[in-house]
Amino acid sequence: MNVFIDKLRKEQNLTDEQIEQLLSTDEYDRELFASALEIREKYYGRQVFIRGLIEISSFCRNDCYYCGIRRSNANASRYRLTAEQIMECCRNGYGLGFRTFVLQGGEDPWFNDERMCSIVKAIKDEYPDCAVTLSLGERTRESYERLFLAGADRYLLRHETADEEHYRRLHPEDMSLSSRQRCLRDLKEIGYATGSGFMVGSPGQTIETLVKDIRFLQELEPDMIGIGPYLRHKDTPFRDCANGSMEMTLRLIGLLRHLFPKALIPSTTALGTIHPQGREMGMLAGANVVMPNLSPLDVREKYELYDDKICTGDEAAECRKCLENRMAMTGFEIVVGRGDRA
Ligand code: SAM
Repeated sequence: MNVFIDKLRKEQNLTDEQIEQLLSTDEYDRELFASALEIREKYYGRQVFIRGLIEISSFCRNDCYYCGIRRSNANASRYRLTAEQIMECCRNGYGLGFRTFVLQGGEDPWFNDERMCSIVKAIKDEYPDCAVTLSLGERTRESYERLFLAGADRYLLRHETADEEHYRRLHPEDMSLSSRQRCLRDLKEIGYATGSGFMVGSPGQTIETLVKDIRFLQELEPDMIGIGPYLRHKDTPFRDCANGSMEMTLRLIGLLRHLFPKALIPSTTALGTIHPQGREMGMLAGANVVMPNLSPLDVREKYELYDDKICTGDEAAECRKCLENRMAMTGFEIVVGRGDRA
């Protein structure tokens, strides 16, 4: 066995230099993925957890330079779902076997605590056997507390990058890495199952910044880690920057599975967008979650974080079936259940 993989298996860690070396070449990929798959099988077998993604709003007060729904994108079509529409998505999703609903959106002040708490409560009342995951960006600690008390179980907030300078390259002055990290620590302390992560290949990212991302994740100890390739959007300041690479994304999934053996790691839509079999390859590199879209068909195209996003024209049932087939063909099985961390 390769010395890096051997050390990873024994210690769940590597030195900075070793991580840099592992990430800089495809030399170790085969062994890394085979070993990641073994670890994944130890805790999760061949099971794949599904999360029903409901994109509740494309309004956003932030102006992240990479994102298609950034505030300054005048070409973006804006929408927000009503509480009734969100409940309808859950109803549809429940019938399709989803037991986790992920409510994600831009940072839209319309979804204040009162409205969000009432939506979370309504979902938990109607579907007590389901988990509610929120992904609504940065909020105050009090707001996270209120949502938790209303019944929210999990929260996804990618840290995006753990390097100050890189963070500045990706975000305008009114956003800060320290605020993002503060949110993540609050979420953990409050008791949420917490997810973080980053885009792979975002403009300015280097192997050194990736090492910092990994160190930050090790310190945070998140339950979920979402990574996907950065993909350009035509109406952002980064429109001419190259997309992130699938190979590096897969390599990082393989590495993360070793560092966080029990973590919930999705094979993301961005991975499926950059390559037709991206999500299947993500599973084979160590991922164990997929997040099919439950949003109403007529808003799908409006939640356009990057160009050519997949599944914008498919009904939820089609998305679910298509992923089930894709997973089955790769030797995995989608299961009905909340899909909590082992
Ligand atoms: N507003 C919430 C937040 O900030 O966490 C949730 C929505 S935000 C659009 C969800 C994630 O989309 C971000 O954390 C970011 O990593 C990802 N994203 C945004 N633009 C992207 C792009 N161009 N390529 C790939 N991922 C992107």
